[in-house]
Amino acid sequence: MVILGSTGSIGVNALIIAERFNVYVEALVAGKNIALLNEQIEKFHPEYVAISDPNDRPFVKHAHVFVGKEGILELLGKCKSHIVLNALVGFVGLAPSIEALRLGKQLALANKESLVVAGHLLDTARITPIDSEHFGLWYLQGKRPVTRMMITASGGAFRDTPLEALPHMSFQDALKHPNWSMGAKITIDSASMTNKLFELLEARWLFGCEQLDAMIEPSSLIHAFVSFKDGSTTAHLAQADMKLPIAFAMLGEIKEEILPPLDLSTLQGFSFQAIDPRRYPIWEIKEEILANPTRGVVINAANEVGITKFYNREINILELAELSKRAFFRFKEVSPSNLQEVFEIDREVRAFCLR
Ligand code: NDP
Repeated sequence: MVILGSTGSIGVNALIIAERFNVYVEALVAGKNIALLNEQIEKFHPEYVAISDPNDRPFVKHAHVFVGKEGILELLGKCKSHIVLNALVGFVGLAPSIEALRLGKQLALANKESLVVAGHLLDTARITPIDSEHFGLWYLQGKRPVTRMMITASGGAFRDTPLEALPHMSFQDALKHPNWSMGAKITIDSASMTNKLFELLEARWLFGCEQLDAMIEPSSLIHAFVSFKDGSTTAHLAQADMKLPIAFAMLGEIKEEILPPLDLSTLQGFSFQAIDPRRYPIWEIKEEILANPTRGVVINAANEVGITKFYNREINILELAELSKRAFFRFKEVSPSNLQEVFEIDREVRAFCLR
């Protein structure tokens, strides 16, 4: 298989699964973490490698190194593997997702931004999502008629922060996720709840379900609920560990233990909370975006610009959500009907948010 984003949180877990199940790793793609990439090269002996920055080229211990965004696409064209695992972060992941699908590959997709910005233009039949929530929904779905899908949220770093303190919270504060460790961007998106909005959009495209919602479950042991026409609701429970969805996406069927089972006798009981728009202002547009899911590209572009502004201390976490909402209402009419329009709208929204 091919792993895009091998030095990130998902990429590292994917390589743990690859090692355990003896999966051949044909290519590795990384950004700036050349030290870790070199370790991975030494261990997995990939045929091809790609990195983001040409200045790092001399430090990569490999003979076939591709460089930059175009380099990733060239690398994909060389690879014979059927499975491409895309764990790049952000909009930069879209072009490789499109190319992998164009080449007829199966796409094991962690890069949620691909689905958020262009879910209606991608062949979801060849996409296996890598995310606990979508894995849970898929696991539960079965063949019975579904009426509603619900996913859970941890609440992120500011779940218990007094509301009046939110404007004073820093980027570093937002990185302190209460339940687990992930890449920086998704951790910020968890703190703002934008991540959950993205996941609802992903579920919309992956499962075709329009009755979607989310709520906070602080222990992060329940990942998803599916309600059926007959009146039943089923829940998916597992330890919060990405190796489970990654293993299924890589191997298809699993007959071994990936995670230790939950010991139900030690569970203290579950609690559920509605998502409060005062803490997570992005939630105010949840219904409107679910009714207009092709505007995901607008929210994504604004959010990526906003995260950089938040990092640079130009705005706070609440203003980050306000920026996304402002863009969402400014670009009310957009509905990209092809991939070129997705790239054009992305550029326009970024320019608007940078003004
Ligand atoms: P990380 O930030 O940990 O990793 C991102 C990876 O992408 C790194 O390997 C990074 O390289 C690489 N990368 C970034 N930009 C480029 C570029 N321009 N060219 C080549 N490589 C690049 O992110 P995560 O692993 O946390 O997340 C990856 C995706 O998966 C995101 O879309 C996220 O939303 C999604 N996801 C993550 C989950 C998690 O638990 N972490 C759960 C569900 C979904 P380097 O580090 O070398 O610079």
